[in-house]
Amino acid sequence: MVENLLNFDAQHLTAWFAAMGEKPFRARQVLRWIHRAGEPDFDAMTDLAASLRGKLKETACVLAPNVMREELSEDGTRKWLLDAGTGNAVETVFIPETGRGTLCVSTQAGCALDCAFCSTGKQGFNRNLGVAEIIGQLWLANREIGRDADGLWPVSNVVLMGMGEPLLNFDNTVSALHLMLDDNAYGLSRRRVTVSTSGIVPAMDRLRDECPVALAVSLHAPNDALRNVLVPINRKYPLRELMAACQRYLECAPRDFITFEYVMLEGVNDSTGDARELIALVRDVPCKFNLIPFNPFPQAPYRRSGTDAVRRFRDVLMQADIVTTTRKVRGDDIAAACGQLAGQVQDKTRKTHRVMEVRA
Ligand code: SAH
Ligand code: SF4
Repeated sequence: MVENLLNFDAQHLTAWFAAMGEKPFRARQVLRWIHRAGEPDFDAMTDLAASLRGKLKETACVLAPNVMREELSEDGTRKWLLDAGTGNAVETVFIPETGRGTLCVSTQAGCALDCAFCSTGKQGFNRNLGVAEIIGQLWLANREIGRDADGLWPVSNVVLMGMGEPLLNFDNTVSALHLMLDDNAYGLSRRRVTVSTSGIVPAMDRLRDECPVALAVSLHAPNDALRNVLVPINRKYPLRELMAACQRYLECAPRDFITFEYVMLEGVNDSTGDARELIALVRDVPCKFNLIPFNPFPQAPYRRSGTDAVRRFRDVLMQADIVTTTRKVRGDDIAAACGQLAGQVQDKTRKTHRVMEVRA
């Protein structure tokens, strides 16, 4: 079997090399070629013995997902549609800003959690992405854009805010995170890598223990009654448990605050009363708020809150000394904004639902 070496973090690559009778430093060299140099061709790995290069050519490859389509927004945002096999595609978005470049990475084809305002959720779940498909998004984006004049790769920050719930694809996500942080691979600081979760409480604890990085939690509602509707996983992990998990996370996190994401839905969760209720909810969790203007998609049942409502909401939070930012909408013209990533997903969840409906 030919192994795709993009599937291996340092630990797995070292084990694979050991099984071939090769020393750990060889694994480090290859890791550096693949991720730091962006080199997929074993022949170009000139500091490896010719015999090892020959062996690698027979048994391994470096294969990122195929780019099916690339789109460039007027504001410089770029989106790639990547082939995830068997009729599925996922999306990756690069957002250039002064002094940094953020890559928004997908972790699943579709998502099973079905949040009411999310276009990915509306498609249902197809499958988890493999490590090569997750880290391959970073590998590809760097190579597609190329190094800058100082020889630096363009991606300085990664957010796992694309399609899917990263903490429900835990092992593959953590292996990809290890590569992002590894000095022999991308060498990003833990503060520049953010996992966004809808609040999978036990997996938040595991992430803290196994690979703490910056954490964003999709809150979207100030009480359980509304959050049960907007973010259905809340029925399993309600707000009290979620707030406690946030506090536990902060005990060993690289940042001393949680970022709460809050999508602004007109007339649903955007009143000043909602903002006041939020203040009470997060009282014991050091946090910042990121207000996200709702990004519509076909058949979306919500509207974006008006700018005045967003401003009033923000002011209430700020008066309670909670740092609050409003996310700029980027890549709107190419449907690359938050929650618009759709790709193409063969919807297994819904098929199952349909079968169940027919049987019932
Ligand atoms: N599943 C994870 C990460 C992917 S979603 C999570 O839910 O956190 C990334 C962010 O986009 C989340 O905060 C999500 O709530 C938000 N989002 C989803 N749909 C959106 C939409 N239509 N408009 C604005 N933000 C949206
Ligand atoms: Fe899944 Fe996140 Fe979308 Fe909810 S918001 S359906 S968890 S991708």
